[in-house]
Amino acid sequence: MTHTLPAATGFLAAVHQDGSQVPRPVFATLGALADAREEHGGHTLHTSLLHSGAPDGARARAGGVAVVLAGELYNRAELWSLLPPGTEPAGDAELVLALFDRYDLHAFRLLNGRFAALVHTGGRVLLATDHAGSVPLYASAAPGRVLAATEAKALRTAPAGRPLPAARPVRRLPGVHQVPAGTVLDLALGSGTGTAHRTWAPVLSRRILPESEAVETVRRSLEHAIRVRLGAQAPLVVLSGGIDSSSVAALADRLTSGRVDTVSMGTDEADEFPQARIVAEHLGTAHREITVPTAELLRRLPHAVWAAESLDPDIIEYLLPLTALYLRLDGPGRRILTGYGADIPLGGMHREDRLPALDTALAHDMETFDGLNEMSPVLSGVAGHWSTHPYWDRDVLDVLVCLEAGLKRRYGQDKWVLRAAMGDLLPAQTVIRPKLGVHEGSGTTSSFSRLLAAAGVSEGRVHQAKRLVVQELFDLVVAAGRHPDDVDTERTVHQVVDRLERTAQPA
Ligand code: ATP
Ligand code: MG
Repeated sequence: MTHTLPAATGFLAAVHQDGSQVPRPVFATLGALADAREEHGGHTLHTSLLHSGAPDGARARAGGVAVVLAGELYNRAELWSLLPPGTEPAGDAELVLALFDRYDLHAFRLLNGRFAALVHTGGRVLLATDHAGSVPLYASAAPGRVLAATEAKALRTAPAGRPLPAARPVRRLPGVHQVPAGTVLDLALGSGTGTAHRTWAPVLSRRILPESEAVETVRRSLEHAIRVRLGAQAPLVVLSGGIDSSSVAALADRLTSGRVDTVSMGTDEADEFPQARIVAEHLGTAHREITVPTAELLRRLPHAVWAAESLDPDIIEYLLPLTALYLRLDGPGRRILTGYGADIPLGGMHREDRLPALDTALAHDMETFDGLNEMSPVLSGVAGHWSTHPYWDRDVLDVLVCLEAGLKRRYGQDKWVLRAAMGDLLPAQTVIRPKLGVHEGSGTTSSFSRLLAAAGVSEGRVHQAKRLVVQELFDLVVAAGRHPDDVDTERTVHQVVDRLERTAQPA
């Protein structure tokens, strides 16, 4: 049974040969911390788990192997079938431990989940991400020690590490690297170096299917992804009234015995309240509308960067409205389902009819998503919630990516195959509603642009200025460890604009 939150939503772990100290864990994610220290084979494994009441489900040890896991698995039943009959692992960490015993690092090729994990065995430390790297994982390694954490800022004070294979250095954090998506780093503790193994890659080929089969496959895979993401209590769906989140709400509603909760955010500048209300009324969900004043939205910019640890200004614009919404959701931690990410494999951002451009955009997006941290659970974790994204379920993603482009763009509609798959569960006007990005529907892009214009940025330099503001915020809240409540968005904007002007002026 899936509980409301996973056993752990984050960790800092350190493996040492000499038992030296670990940094004091600092996370944006809210949660209780459980520390543990174990000696094994002359090494010390130190873990600080961000947990939801039962940290033991996130840690497992048998013989000389220890597993630490933040997040959750979605193909448990299939994975259990690989183990001897009668074996029922108590939690996901124990399940990974049993699979590791049988498959070693190849166990990670089997998992469909939203997780980051560390395995310690003998002189080896393995660091693993899910297929999408949806729970970011960072590491700092040197001879005799490996430190890993689900937030880069937790490694801010770690002693400088060496370069890691295939891993991306993190800005302003010397020696801290991000483990790529769908990867296991197999490190030798003695040298602090090792090998990277890819455990997943997006399919490059495209499948040709009759309409009806494509529609049925999409419906079945999405329904399954939602079923395995439901917790013990009715979920909360963040609903815009667009086809992606409306489909999630409709399927969650069908699969839940109680009433599904839905919530929609708007600002005093823009909202999608009427469109979301149509869906909520149609399904009979317990629906809420939350208006976040634009001034508050912009004040949350440092929080979005703090949570996502991303340097991409476009991604931060997509994530800011959701971060502001999550911070408004008080009460006990909720399991949140989103419609996030559907546009990437379906080419939904693509607004013209030509298919080559759609597949070009899709191939580019699937090649470049890694490291943007768009799917990070920390965004809702800052308010103590756990979000999960059914469209980026490994099986759903595999199905969607490989459909030939003509099934995605058809009869003049974007995301046609999804719309056709949901025709019987949603109002007709929702099914045909054109895409509206979350950054547009909430007025985030325009209000951020206006803030820059008011500070004197010319129209042609707005995007560059946004990039610099996000970078500056990253330096403050991630690299320098400032709390985002103590960072003023407007002041940061003015500092960046001053700097921009100085560099623009001829010497
Ligand atoms: P479409 O892409 O067709 O507009 P969508 O609105 O569901 O569908 P996005 O615009 O890509 O999808 O937004 C991403 C996700 O963010 C949504 O699926 C939804 O879960 C969440 N979201 C977007 N806007 C809002 C909003 N105003 N209130 C609550 N959640 C939202
Ligand atoms: Mg939308």
